[in-house]
Amino acid sequence: MITAAGPMPVADYMRLCLTHPQYGYYIARDPFGADGDFITAPEVSQMFGELIGVWMAAVWRQMGAPDNVRIVELGPGRGTLLADALRATKVVGGFHDAIVLHLIEISPRLQEMQQQRLQIFDLQTAWHTTLTDVPGGPCIIIANEFIDALPVHQVVKQADGWHERIVEIGAGGNLALGVARDPLRLFEATLPPAVRQAPEGAIFEWRPDAIALELGQRARTDGAALIVDYGHAKSGLGDTLQALAGHAFVDPLAAPGEADLTAHVDFEALAQRAELIGAKCHGPLPQRELLGNLGINQRAARLKAQASEKETADIELALARLTAAGPAGMGELFKGLAIADRRLDPLPGFTAPT
Ligand code: SAH
Repeated sequence: MITAAGPMPVADYMRLCLTHPQYGYYIARDPFGADGDFITAPEVSQMFGELIGVWMAAVWRQMGAPDNVRIVELGPGRGTLLADALRATKVVGGFHDAIVLHLIEISPRLQEMQQQRLQIFDLQTAWHTTLTDVPGGPCIIIANEFIDALPVHQVVKQADGWHERIVEIGAGGNLALGVARDPLRLFEATLPPAVRQAPEGAIFEWRPDAIALELGQRARTDGAALIVDYGHAKSGLGDTLQALAGHAFVDPLAAPGEADLTAHVDFEALAQRAELIGAKCHGPLPQRELLGNLGINQRAARLKAQASEKETADIELALARLTAAGPAGMGELFKGLAIADRRLDPLPGFTAPT
């Protein structure tokens, strides 16, 4: 496409690499687990999905335990999070009778895995490829490591303004990153004030507003969304586009469609758009704090009480992986943000338990 039609923005490249109907990374693969390319929190430990389940049920009660609540998951992967969440909430009186599942998944292969995984719960379940297709009404929305896979635009500051970063054919005939010749018009006013004074050469990343506005719009009347992902609490400069294959970082341009391609989530931008449309945001909190508020230490202790020595060691490792700071853990880089109806305040998980 680049040879035929010329350079494309990084955002278009990312979208095609991940979701092209024939060659897209997510379309035909199961990218998770030890044999795959990366491991996500629900695949690290059952505790993650269980605690999110507890959050969902607590929010449902706070909403007044309505009937016909849409439990929506964006990008459910293997369905592990939801399976653990549903198992953990079986005992919550009336909850399973009140919910309908809506799964947003672009990959036919993963849709099938989700269906197999979730059929034991015998709940009404519908699949869609976009959130827009989910009918309106009371909803509880979950998105773990979903937003990072949505296309990101990169812009580069030059003397005459901000330029779109593009993917083009480089000198050796391979894909290369470049900068569009003309600056973007009327662009600077859309940037967060702290970023406008960036030095020449600086890179800023932004995602289209659609997902934040839609989450805000659905949550603001009778709903709540919980977004967990890696990213920064405040909008800032920097190139975070990354590719993962076989659990290692690789060149994002080397094998389009064969590596996972992501960029950090700008939580400030996300929250700001959702609030603009009338929802209330909670957090972002570091994953360590969110899981702590939801009771991960107590949950780990209860699991360990019935575990063998080997299982105990595994539980401790998983707990550390989910909550530790630094590059080995997911506790600090990963954050949780809730977007909710303003009547749902305080929201479970976002205040320390008393
Ligand atoms: N939440 C899961 C999987 C995260 S990976 C977990 O934590 O394990 C991202 C998921 O989003 C995959 O299921 C992928 O197929 C799906 N996905 C990625 N881009 C998508 C898009 N544009 N629309 C719908 N689903 C998408």
